[in-house]
Amino acid sequence: MESQILLLKKIQDTDIQIGLQEAERRQHDADRERLASEAKEYEDRFEIIKNELEELEKTRLTLEEEAALSADRIKKSEERLKNIKNDREFKAVTKEMNAAKKEKQTKEGEVGKLREKVDEKKALMREQEETLKNKKTELEAKIAYIETNKEKWEKTIKDKKEEKTAIAKDIAPPLLKRYETIREKRQGIAIVPVAGGTCQGCHMNIPPQAYIQLQKGSSDLIFCPHCHRILYWNPALKTSEQEKGKPAISKH
Ligand SMILES: [Zn+2]
Repeated sequence: MESQILLLKKIQDTDIQIGLQEAERRQHDADRERLASEAKEYEDRFEIIKNELEELEKTRLTLEEEAALSADRIKKSEERLKNIKNDREFKAVTKEMNAAKKEKQTKEGEVGKLREKVDEKKALMREQEETLKNKKTELEAKIAYIETNKEKWEKTIKDKKEEKTAIAKDIAPPLLKRYETIREKRQGIAIVPVAGGTCQGCHMNIPPQAYIQLQKGSSDLIFCPHCHRILYWNPALKTSEQEKGKPAISKH
């Protein structure tokens, strides 16, 4: 049983290494996804600002045209004033000219305000453009990193899986199956050492009888009654347990 336990432990170490490698790969993929979605978000925001700027520019042009029309009206009124024939006509032209002047002033005021808004929007757009550029650079670097390392990661996983298959050949199939079932239920850890009478998987005390059996090198598999993991006796851990002043279970 001891050698089987030892092989299981080797299998578990291999599984842990595979798990770590897979987790690393997943993390990089997740980072890439996040960066891509952030870049998309920044791009959308940039487009919105760009459209808003275009709208502002359009409005500004319309207002400038309207102000120019008012200027024309003022000019025409001024021309007409030179050839005025009577008081009534004078009043009418003056009234029209004043209205045009007032309108020109209003439109020019609005144009001034719009120019400020346009400048603000342009600054915001440049800022957003810079943020977007940085995010895209970050994303490209991540994609390149994944591309460069993908094969290496895949090879590590493949090698470790082959290693696992080779070790598994010497383990009784029902035992291996049991190991896989526990591993699935217990976050990848199916076989744990016992130290100080405590299961190192769940840190609960195991019954003294089981502890004695373990120390004796029992031919039966011994499970933790709490987390149901396979237990093994690690003499190296016994030393630290003695240091802690916890007496080992007496053997008589
Ligand atoms: Zn346990």
